[in-house]
Amino acid sequence: MIQVKSPREIDAMRRAGEITGQALAEAKRIVAPGITTKQVDSALRRVIEKSGAIPAFLGYNGFPGAVCVSVNREVIHGIPGSRVLREGDIVSIDVGAVWNGFYGDAAATFPVGQVSDEALRLIRVTRESFYQAAARAREGCRVSDISHAVQTHAEAAGYTLVREWTGHGVGSKLHEDPEVPNFGPPGHGPRLLRGMTIAVEPMVNAGSAAVRVLKDGWTVVTADGKLSAHYEHSILITAGEPELLTRWEETPL
Ligand code: MG
Repeated sequence: MIQVKSPREIDAMRRAGEITGQALAEAKRIVAPGITTKQVDSALRRVIEKSGAIPAFLGYNGFPGAVCVSVNREVIHGIPGSRVLREGDIVSIDVGAVWNGFYGDAAATFPVGQVSDEALRLIRVTRESFYQAAARAREGCRVSDISHAVQTHAEAAGYTLVREWTGHGVGSKLHEDPEVPNFGPPGHGPRLLRGMTIAVEPMVNAGSAAVRVLKDGWTVVTADGKLSAHYEHSILITAGEPELLTRWEETPL
């Protein structure tokens, strides 16, 4: 059952999204060679808590961090810790904030210092695949129109899509209906209505699509050890352009 949000609920989601975006803007500011993934976690947690929000991922199904920090071959759900980011790494940061009972959820992959052209291209194509999909996130489209747009753009660049994890509805829960896969033919799944809120989140692998979970029970890595990138916004469906609830000021690629 897909929730259609009331104007009051949408206002709460705008605020949750704004705080989530501010945390990603902080990530852009502080990610650099020499910082640990735990320091990233602490800094983003401060941004969220100073705004009067709650880090959505902390304790979610037992997750130990405030945010997910996934480096290089790590796709999603990386646990913040003592790992030091090095020049040439790429780091995917996934943030959620709860404000007044409503969630924002967003992610982006950042270059650490100077990175290879291949790594930058992966980050760029992953972001582009989100925006291709967002153009289909409007009233009257179907969920799989979004899925198909992600897949078409990323595969045209020679990349593959993770299939085991998907985008999702977002609202008074972090994960709501519908599932929003990053692959599939267009024209299937529920029809989108204005007032629905969904998180669209391509997870794009440079090599094969296969992934596995590390022994920590959380960290999803590419099976072939190649790079992976992630990009996500929470979106409000309208009759026209989608409203990106978690918008922040990004670096042009
Ligand atoms: Mg999400």
